[in-house]
Amino acid sequence: MKKWTATLLIGVMLTVVGCSSGSSGAEGGDSGGAGTEPNIGVAIYKFDDTFMTGVRNAITEAANGKAKVDIVDSQNSQPTQNDKIDLFITKKVDALVINPVDRTAAGVMIDKAKAADIPVVFLNREPLPEDMKKWDKVYYVGAKAEESGTISGQLIVDYWKANPDADKNKDGVLQYVMLKGEPGHQDAELRTKYSVQALEDAGIKVEKVAEDTGMWDRVKGQEKMAAFLAAHGDKIEAVLANNDDMALGAVEALKAAGYFTGGKKMPVVGVDATAPALQALKDGTMLGTVLNDAKNQGKAALNLAAVLAKGEVPNKDSSGYDLTDGKFVWIPYKKITKDNIDDAQ
Ligand code: BGC
Ligand code: CA
Repeated sequence: MKKWTATLLIGVMLTVVGCSSGSSGAEGGDSGGAGTEPNIGVAIYKFDDTFMTGVRNAITEAANGKAKVDIVDSQNSQPTQNDKIDLFITKKVDALVINPVDRTAAGVMIDKAKAADIPVVFLNREPLPEDMKKWDKVYYVGAKAEESGTISGQLIVDYWKANPDADKNKDGVLQYVMLKGEPGHQDAELRTKYSVQALEDAGIKVEKVAEDTGMWDRVKGQEKMAAFLAAHGDKIEAVLANNDDMALGAVEALKAAGYFTGGKKMPVVGVDATAPALQALKDGTMLGTVLNDAKNQGKAALNLAAVLAKGEVPNKDSSGYDLTDGKFVWIPYKKITKDNIDDAQ
């Protein structure tokens, strides 16, 4: 009995030792000697998101020769993300990059990081202002959602003014449908608001025929657009989508309803300028999009984290990006049509 217990104990000890050395090797979490690259823990809201995949690749690329990154999938679950953050803190990473699942949950993550003195760079989902003020080692990299909304509205304005037959029922009013991103996400709320605002500011009378959330997702975008078409058919004169995946889903539904052949037209706009969206611009199924610069957002977040990991306060020289109020990096958007596709590639 005694012997058995001892054997078991040794077994357990071996397992513990094996696990800890194994995990630090696998995750690149060694403490290393002087001159080794810092370890940065990156938590993405979910890997299965076209835009965030672009950002993720940009982070990996920017880390080359600068930092060791461990990028994890929060699988669209805030509790899962909290666990991943706890794990990063246990492993004593030198800095965190967090793309929150629920941006209102940032405060809790900040408290944990602050207690462990690990600086945090948030990305793509903007924490509430009161949370950003919780600690001086909290940063945000993103893009001004209003700007993308305004640009996508302007794409429709240009089309409406250049094509008198865009007013299909000749009532002098633009009947549109809106495919919204995830409710509560600053990009969904503000793109929706500012795209319509841009139409109105251009003097166009608008009527919202339908609005629903496609949750940033192509399949959901297709389903919602199919439902809009079933309910309203030819009454719809324009499709505004908060991102390209939903716009591309809408294009599929429109194709199934006979659009884009035999002169049946529909202006569809999105945001992001993903590769499939640029292809749709070339094909003439999407009218335009807005470049959401994944490359610079990923690079800026990684650069900030790498500077913070060294215990320094980032500035333009050390990070390569302008900082607003000392803690925000804003990456500009850009209007993209078939005429300037190269600007997005
Ligand atoms: C992008 C969406 C993406 C979302 C994820 C937005 O900025 O436009 O395509 O799904 O971020 O948070
Ligand atoms: Ca009309």
